[in-house]
Amino acid sequence: MKLYFGSNLKMYKGVRETADYLRELSLLTADLDREKTELFILPSYTSLPEAARVTDQRLIRLGAQNMGWEEEGQFTGEISCLMLKELGIGMVMAGHSERRHVFRETDEDERKKVRCALDHGMIPLLCVGETAEDKLYGISREVLAIQLKVALTGLTSQEAQRVRVAYEPVWSIGVSGTPASPEYAEEMHISIKRTLTELFGIAGEAIPVLYGGSVNQDNAVPLIRLPHVDGLYVGRAAWQADRFDRLIRDALRAREAL
Ligand code: PEP
Repeated sequence: MKLYFGSNLKMYKGVRETADYLRELSLLTADLDREKTELFILPSYTSLPEAARVTDQRLIRLGAQNMGWEEEGQFTGEISCLMLKELGIGMVMAGHSERRHVFRETDEDERKKVRCALDHGMIPLLCVGETAEDKLYGISREVLAIQLKVALTGLTSQEAQRVRVAYEPVWSIGVSGTPASPEYAEEMHISIKRTLTELFGIAGEAIPVLYGGSVNQDNAVPLIRLPHVDGLYVGRAAWQADRFDRLIRDALRAREAL
């Protein structure tokens, strides 16, 4: 089974830094078997043209961190799927917790982005995750199911095969986050896979579900060993190419040893 490793560079790294990072990561990971391992990086918008120029996307797929859900129009400050495709970008994230919580995006907003991405042949990476409060109230599974069901409403099973999901508990992301324990992550991944199967049958089972939230060199191995984790979505610990390469290799070795 294929494993997925990706990183969202958030609002870090300018054009030159992004290009240097991608060149280094491409070289370091060149020998990995892409039939078994998929790598992807989501740089800032302004770095995307240069990123696309310096990256062989058969080795490292590039994606956008966000997009508007219309092809064009009166949407000041937004970037459309057509603009991304013009740059050779075929993947887009929807629903990162910072978009949901800092920029107040709703499940319906994420649904429109997923729909737009699929309509234009792009791969949507849908992020879902419960807040600390949801966890406290014991409604994590329900919250995840709602986020998935709304954002993926109306997709055919065929379309569902192009979707990827990242499970990122809000309380585990970023500098003040704490990583989810492997036991907890596994429980939530099982629940997510159950919802995806409910929605799309066998096609739902095949949707890759990545874990994200304070993944680092120490917890990458226990997390990737979990049977329902199909990959790791890494923030801070991936922003130095050599560290990310080591993390990926440790994870691949651990999975192979199972
Ligand atoms: C993220 O923001 O999606 C993320 C996973 O960040 P970090 O790994 O730094 O917690």
